[in-house]
Amino acid sequence: MSVRTRIAPSPTGDPHVGTAYMALFNWAFARANGGQFLLRIEDTDAERSTVESEQSIYDALHWLGLDWDEGPDVGGPNAPYRQSERQDTYSEHIETLVENKHAFYCFCSRERLDEVRQAQQKAKETTRYDGHCFGLADEDVARRVAAGESHVIRLVVPNEGDCIFEDRLRGEISIPFTQVDMQVLIKADGMPTYHFAVVVDDHLMAITHIIRGEEWISSVPKHKLLYEYLGWQLPELIHLPLLRNSDQSKLSKRKNPTGINYYRALGILPESLLNYLALMGYSMPDEREIFSRPEMVEVFDIDRVSVRGPIFDQEKLSWMNGQYLRALSATEFAERVVDWFSPERLRDLIPLVQERVEKLSDLVPIADYMLGSRAALKEQDFALDKLERADVVRILYHTSVRLEQVQNWDRDELMLICQTAAEKLDYKLRDYLGPLFVAISGRRVSLPLFDSLVYLGPDLSRARIREALDVLKVSGKEKKRLDKELR
Ligand code: GLU
Repeated sequence: MSVRTRIAPSPTGDPHVGTAYMALFNWAFARANGGQFLLRIEDTDAERSTVESEQSIYDALHWLGLDWDEGPDVGGPNAPYRQSERQDTYSEHIETLVENKHAFYCFCSRERLDEVRQAQQKAKETTRYDGHCFGLADEDVARRVAAGESHVIRLVVPNEGDCIFEDRLRGEISIPFTQVDMQVLIKADGMPTYHFAVVVDDHLMAITHIIRGEEWISSVPKHKLLYEYLGWQLPELIHLPLLRNSDQSKLSKRKNPTGINYYRALGILPESLLNYLALMGYSMPDEREIFSRPEMVEVFDIDRVSVRGPIFDQEKLSWMNGQYLRALSATEFAERVVDWFSPERLRDLIPLVQERVEKLSDLVPIADYMLGSRAALKEQDFALDKLERADVVRILYHTSVRLEQVQNWDRDELMLICQTAAEKLDYKLRDYLGPLFVAISGRRVSLPLFDSLVYLGPDLSRARIREALDVLKVSGKEKKRLDKELR
């Protein structure tokens, strides 16, 4: 049987370096074994999924030089590859599960579920569905469904025993069924949950090896039950270690830029980002650190992955990028600069600068902070009229936390966030924006703030505000107090 691997990103937000990391290992394993690599879009969360985000996943992976044999954009024998278009397939399989009493209808209200959870939390028990609707008579179920009562469909989970499975990198893993929730398989809106769709799709798409992040290990019992109930064979499981921040916590945008586009805009070369990601948990048999994609594939051995959480270290990535840049010929280097400073990047900048210049060369000092790094910040830069240090800190901190939750990084949403915050904290909008101008541009006067934020993108904007808070030496205690104020 030919090796088949896949990644299954959700098209929400900016493409994440974690997606590139999973894609690289799935791709390398498939290519090293003469198999196929698939891309499936998990867009069952209709509210958060966007076409733009889906497109930006393709763009980012193409930029990195990865290709796939089947996917929504290239088609293939197992189409459709977008979960939102596979509804009929899921319906067919959920019916089988319900008929065989491997899944059941549940009519519990949100309030009831909350009560159950709170009681379990109080008693320090694992929070899970208590089985209230399990065993309802078929006629009752049929009547309530026909009457249009809101419901979900849940997985039947044994009350005792352990789920035992193999992970190729970790060996045997055992999880007691008492810790496994009676997972919702079909949501009230009729859409499948991740856990159900992933099993159906991986099976029908003949995936042989599931290579994904370790955060999914605890979900394996649910998946394994589904494979057994449906009479299917569980693919081989390979859970890669998660990328981590320098303090060992899971790589998060709160502490680190996580978007592929951030690194791209910074001028990290695709081959060095990929090379760097390849070193996350993996080492070449001869321990060399600089290697290309084809070199990786030539000797790729998934069993060389170490499960200790690799630290995503910006400095090491910069160092590696420097190695790559210096190895280019002058002509290649020039080509890369042109690539990086693409016509699109220039085009987006023109409406902001055209009105403000007298000579073309004025562009450079006006837009320096948009194209390259902004000037290093000093504490005095934040000595602003009408604002004490405490106000500046408060404004920057509030903005930074609020910016983490932004779904659509556009002018209107960003403006609304700042307006709302300014009102809540009782500042004039003008005053509120002052510290942000400095944090983003390094100056008190710059190109329009919201346009600058949009142009720089979420990761870079957040990183600059975080840096500003560092420059202001905001203590943990202060942050705690501000967190309280935010709640
Ligand atoms: N949509 C899931 C994710 O992006 C896929 C997990 C899996 O590979 O099974 O994390």
